[in-house]
Amino acid sequence: MDIVRLLPDSVANQIAAGEVIQRPASCLKELVENSLDAGATRIQVVLRDAGRTLLQVVDNGQGMSSTDARMAFERHATSKIKEAADLFHLHTMGFRGEALASICAVATVEVQTRREEDELGTLIEISGSEVIRQEPVQCPKGTNMRVKNLFFNVPARRRFLRTDQTEMRNLMTEFARIVLVNPEVQFTLIHQDEVLMDLKAGTEKQRIEAYFGRSQRHPYSGQLIDIHVETELVNIHGYIGKPENASRSAQQYFFVNKRYMRHTYFHKAVMTAYQGLLHGETNPSYFIYFDINPEAIDVNIHPTKTEIKFADEQLIFPILLAAVREALGKFNLSPSIDFNTQGQVEMPVASSSKAPVSFASFIKQDSSYNPFSPSPKNVVDQRWQQLYPTTESAGLPTADQTLFDNEPTAIGQVYQLGNRYIVLPLAEGLMLIDQHRAHALLLYDQCLKRLQDHKGEIQQLLFPEVWDVGLEDESLVESLSDYLHSLGFELSRLTRGSYSVSGIPALAGQQSALVALQQIVDNVRELGPVAKDERERCIAWSMADSAAQPYGKQFTTTEMTALASQLFARGDYKHTPNGKIVCTILSNEQINSMF
Ligand code: ADP
Ligand code: MG
Repeated sequence: MDIVRLLPDSVANQIAAGEVIQRPASCLKELVENSLDAGATRIQVVLRDAGRTLLQVVDNGQGMSSTDARMAFERHATSKIKEAADLFHLHTMGFRGEALASICAVATVEVQTRREEDELGTLIEISGSEVIRQEPVQCPKGTNMRVKNLFFNVPARRRFLRTDQTEMRNLMTEFARIVLVNPEVQFTLIHQDEVLMDLKAGTEKQRIEAYFGRSQRHPYSGQLIDIHVETELVNIHGYIGKPENASRSAQQYFFVNKRYMRHTYFHKAVMTAYQGLLHGETNPSYFIYFDINPEAIDVNIHPTKTEIKFADEQLIFPILLAAVREALGKFNLSPSIDFNTQGQVEMPVASSSKAPVSFASFIKQDSSYNPFSPSPKNVVDQRWQQLYPTTESAGLPTADQTLFDNEPTAIGQVYQLGNRYIVLPLAEGLMLIDQHRAHALLLYDQCLKRLQDHKGEIQQLLFPEVWDVGLEDESLVESLSDYLHSLGFELSRLTRGSYSVSGIPALAGQQSALVALQQIVDNVRELGPVAKDERERCIAWSMADSAAQPYGKQFTTTEMTALASQLFARGDYKHTPNGKIVCTILSNEQINSMF
């Protein structure tokens, strides 16, 4: 008996759906892209339960005839390409003809659609690939797609979905990638009957500002630098963030021919242009748009992948690098800034906004700090490593561990190198201490203690600051409120996604405290679910790292000596909790071998 059979379409579609539709966010992407392809100028997205129960996209695009509306749900049914050759000059987002077939295989879809020239529109309801009804209907011009109960017939998929909060974040990520590159289209996003986004048509820059708002984390209003270059090969334009606005959670977007893409090689070009301009481990934001002949790129890879291949990426790299460099240079941010030149880079200083507090008094001021308290050991674990990949280990000379056996005793004058390192001559060689990390390590102990004792010293702000967290992170902030309070933050909720900050930890300056708040949220989010003490360490370190004295800050001899002795008293002072080197010794042998 022969046993090979063709699968029924409904089963084949369900299998294919797994590829295209993995979660509500992928469904949103496909539907909105269809609306854009249909020439819509207004798109409304309505969600219920993060798209699980309802995911609706309403557009004012060209609509479909009743036959097309039925055909559209067949696999490989598309109006966008006719033959293989068309793949090389795509001007639409879709072309595979798989999305609707996939969606209707794993959900109940109700579509109402009407073309301008038709008097009556068409209503079709399909559930699990089966047409339930098709009838004429009175409806506005355009298309209204309602996707209900996504994955109702694929329990494994449904279980695979994460919390509403996570799915919502995925939806927002997908939404951002689309709206940022289609500023001429008006978008509305509604979740549980609440309007989350209402974006008017405008320019790219206006769209970026409207999307990210004037939040602390994304201070974009009037802050973005334009980049622009036209060549025969490619046209590049966009907006890049000033180096001083860089943060750990930067917004970085590349688009090519109105499509979001990830491109690690081009990312490197941008980062190279910023070299030497960034503070610590921060990243610049960028929104860069490429226009290129569609034949010179290949988007025909996996439907959910965002990587795009460029035929001439080697040639485009230097064009992009030069464009970003030029833009940074134009704004007088010469890439040769180093930490020897004071005052060029504005950095958060850990002092009150009024009188600058000297570093030594800053250490002394904290009576709770006990240099002899045992330090938390072995806090370097895998998750931390992932969160902050260590770069030091690569190819750099590492100090002979035995050199650290004795408590270091300085045998000469301590001095500061490049406003970045503290240099201490020892009998065994030269000790180099990273000033920022060393200070952060000391503050870390204080922060950890406050978190554990639940008593932070609060510094009241004369004028409360507004902190925009964004809707996605609001529940995260709520879950952190006890920790934040223990550190010394006084927060009250203003409106959805924004807080008033009326008090900050005594150990931080106003500016760095706000940076710290955001860092805490970003790092905890990235860390994901972990045990309480690990979360506390992450929070303490985020706070300490933001509040610590920055590179570029000049120290007095007294301050340096105080810092070094507090550090040595700590016992465990060679690494930060996330495994970065705080100090190292250049041994006499190493020095001798150089000559
Ligand atoms: P693709 O976008 O790859 O062509 P889809 O399955 O997403 O495949 O859509 C199939 C077809 O349905 C499209 O080619 C288009 O003709 C039609 N279609 C889908 N959504 C819309 C819409 N919102 N407005 C008008 N036509 C649409
Ligand atoms: Mg499509």
